Amino acid sequence: MSRHAVRLDAVTKRYGSGAGAVHALRGVTVDLPRGGLTAVMGPSGSGKSTFLQCAAGLDTPDSGSVHLGEAELSRMSETQLTEMRREKVGFIFQAFNLIPALTVADNVTLPLRLAGTRPDRAWLGEVITRVGLADRMHHRPSQLSGGQQQRVAIARALVTRPEVVFADEPTGALDMRTAAEVLGLLRQVVDATGQTVVMVTHDPVAASYADSVLFLAGGALVDEVRSASADTIQRRMATLGGHGRQEAVPC
Ligand code: ADP
Repeated sequence: MSRHAVRLDAVTKRYGSGAGAVHALRGVTVDLPRGGLTAVMGPSGSGKSTFLQCAAGLDTPDSGSVHLGEAELSRMSETQLTEMRREKVGFIFQAFNLIPALTVADNVTLPLRLAGTRPDRAWLGEVITRVGLADRMHHRPSQLSGGQQQRVAIARALVTRPEVVFADEPTGALDMRTAAEVLGLLRQVVDATGQTVVMVTHDPVAASYADSVLFLAGGALVDEVRSASADTIQRRMATLGGHGRQEAVPC
């Protein structure tokens, strides 16, 4: 088994062409180790979303390669990519993206049913208990707090036993205390199960839960810090112009 869960090698991605072209990623090479929580930070426009999209097989790089485990995404057909995303990747979004008409249990098992797999009741119970919602199985999202809804989304991301969970600003819609609970849960999932999680965030406190923080600026990977405090991360961000918008400049 490969040591990395995800590997990007010289990945470039450009939007538009000619003088107006924007180089969203300009040769990003990085290994994301298995069983770790990695945060991706950078000023607005630095390429974080594009990085996540390319790493998760939702978008295709212009050049370079992306490996998810042993599989190289650029060699896959659209059908294979769809299957890979369903089986090997879990997603958590800022806006939870739950289906209002479905119960907690049905929201969590939706990815399995979409993949035509029967939910394993024991595993479902374990996942829902792990996120602390065992007594809310039959509630609907509207009957839950924001933090509980994000816990449902985390359970939904874990239920397929994915190779990697990608989280895009998972605490962006939560107050500080609830955000801390959700981040604590993600940390615990990584520590207890060896799940690999990659999280895009602009919040140094959120990033301080990570084993490793990658910093993007202008589409390039400019730094990586390990086990850093929120203060250290904040200071590094400040040197990247973290409070202003930093556009990826054309080559
Ligand atoms: P971040 O997530 O760090 O804010 P993005 O990855 O969204 O950065 O964007 C990186 C750069 O690419 C920005 O300059 C952005 O405007 C540009 N960009 C992203 N998506 C598109 C798109 N679909 N079309 C044109 N430009 C885009």
